[in-house]
Amino acid sequence: MKPIKNRVYCKDCGRVKMLFETQKKADTFLKFNSEDIERESGYAPQRSYFCIVCNGWHVTSQEPVQEGYVSRTEQAISDFHRIREKAKEIRDKNKAIKNERLERLRTKITRVRELLEARDYSTCKILLEELDSDLVQIKDIISESKRKVFRKECRSLWEELEKEEGKI
Ligand SMILES: [Zn+2]
Repeated sequence: MKPIKNRVYCKDCGRVKMLFETQKKADTFLKFNSEDIERESGYAPQRSYFCIVCNGWHVTSQEPVQEGYVSRTEQAISDFHRIREKAKEIRDKNKAIKNERLERLRTKITRVRELLEARDYSTCKILLEELDSDLVQIKDIISESKRKVFRKECRSLWEELEKEEGKI
């Protein structure tokens, strides 16, 4: 006879299934009930399998699954990990782009200082103009507070340049 007590709704296969605590219990059930069930339903449960969602054993009339088979839940978990992995990849990539941009800004600022020192004011002016437009371009990449620091630095460099040019 089909027991009705140990029936649960299995979220993995999306229907009510019998649940056994151990494989032995599931196999014992198969041994003594398969024929009756087949007579009643036309299907004979033929094997037991562990369900990671119910954390127990079900029986099924389906053929043994092929190697490499994953349950729906396992598939969902692996999809989730893959998506999270991909998101991390994108974040890392964006971070690398951001760092590279920051590095380029710092290098340019250092160069401007060197040019001021060397009194190459025309090249200095070109670089400062570049920096101004760089700071506008990177507004989606670099935080406002960080850009503010750079803007302030550029402003003081512009002032220094004007002061130096005034001396000529
Ligand atoms: Zn289950």
